[in-house]
Amino acid sequence: MPRNYDIAELRRLDVAHHLPAQADWQEIENLGGSRIITHADGCYIHDGDGNRILDGMAGLWCVNVGYGRDELADVAREQMLELPYYNSFFKTANPPTVLLAHKIASLTQFRLPHVFFNSSGSEANDTIFRLVRQYWKLRGEPKRKTFISRWNAYHGSTVAGVSLGGMKAMHPIGDLPIPGVEHVRQPYQFNEGRDMTPEAFGTACAEAIESRILEVGPENVAAFIGEPVQGAGGVIIPPANYWPQVEAICRKYGILLICDEVICGFGRTGSMWGHETMGVKPDIIAMAKGLSSGYLPISAVAVSEEIVKVMKTGGDFVHGYTYSGHPVSAAVAIRNLEIMEREGLVDKVRNETGPHLAKCLASLNDHPLVGEARSIGLLGAVEIVADKTSGARFGGKEGTAGPMVRDICIRNGLMVRGIRDSIVMCPPLVISCEQIDDMIGIIRRSLDEAMPALKAIG
Ligand SMILES: *Cc1c(COP(=O)(O)O)cnc(C)c1O
Repeated sequence: MPRNYDIAELRRLDVAHHLPAQADWQEIENLGGSRIITHADGCYIHDGDGNRILDGMAGLWCVNVGYGRDELADVAREQMLELPYYNSFFKTANPPTVLLAHKIASLTQFRLPHVFFNSSGSEANDTIFRLVRQYWKLRGEPKRKTFISRWNAYHGSTVAGVSLGGMKAMHPIGDLPIPGVEHVRQPYQFNEGRDMTPEAFGTACAEAIESRILEVGPENVAAFIGEPVQGAGGVIIPPANYWPQVEAICRKYGILLICDEVICGFGRTGSMWGHETMGVKPDIIAMAKGLSSGYLPISAVAVSEEIVKVMKTGGDFVHGYTYSGHPVSAAVAIRNLEIMEREGLVDKVRNETGPHLAKCLASLNDHPLVGEARSIGLLGAVEIVADKTSGARFGGKEGTAGPMVRDICIRNGLMVRGIRDSIVMCPPLVISCEQIDDMIGIIRRSLDEAMPALKAIG
């Protein structure tokens, strides 16, 4: 049970001293402080005002095994007492880290047999940025420095992460992107290809990558990076023919293919990896979030044999973090993956809860505010529109309906995210079909509640 916190005092201290991430600090102050989340169990979070909220976002796309797992706390405690910390700089390693590296390699069928650890998804992508450029240098092609990414991609919040990412709102903060990143169009058919067949649209988006490669000069391109399904960008599910074409283009020009599996990894799309769902074989993948179900910070980069062979000709890879290979995080991650296997969570998403979510979302298509409801595995989005035929948005541009409906959903007991004008969901992989029914019921009710205010805006 939670401690007996003084919530009003915590909110006061929050405003006075705590700067929350990815937030408008003035807005939080105006609200009198953040919502204080005190405890959680299973698929529910609880706030300081006594609200029990169904967590439709699995924390931040990460709490895949749900909250309140005793055995993860137990394994962390045991590991802390045995070896709470040691680094991997001094020709040293620790047991959980080595075992987790082997486990991750096995989950790629040993196609990506080498694993580098970090503490966050952003750090994983920073590692990839340096590793890839070093690889090309050692291969004798030092001009291959450019990364190709997509607009509206999310690859983290560090300098390299934001630069690789394609979030236009993030770029001005810190004067990013840094040079050497090229952004191309995203496979977001609802917004950018409504008049095309999925096949034609998928091909057009893949061809945009090839054109950019030719513009930059293939001899200057190091890699293409993409999330199998863009998460923070708004659950952008590409047409089925997109990724295989992207892979073929990378192979044609000898460019590395990187998949950012930070959200899609560990069963989210109904296979172990998003790239499996998309039918491609990347050279490097980044993973984080679901690796430990968020219980402790840890991320990893898995790399092909071919790349590591070249890296081994280059002496020290002068890169790494104090917490690379943290033993407690690794021990928790191993147990988290054991839970996923024991409970068959990937199969459950593929065969049971994923199809159920798709069916429930399809039932929203008759709602007057819903332009499209889409999902893959347990990743879903509902597009809110003013006009179902044209896809026009309330207020003439995106950004009005999404936050409004999100706030109503939270009031109604469901934590979801509003990204532009879509309501996005990514529940724990342990969610039941009944809880999915609840989630969709709350979304429908919240859409109904928002309708008068939205119609007034027009
Ligand atoms: C969350 C996320 C990241 C960044 O991870 P952090 O742990 O927040 O640094 C990178 N890539 C993707 C696809 C993500 O969803």
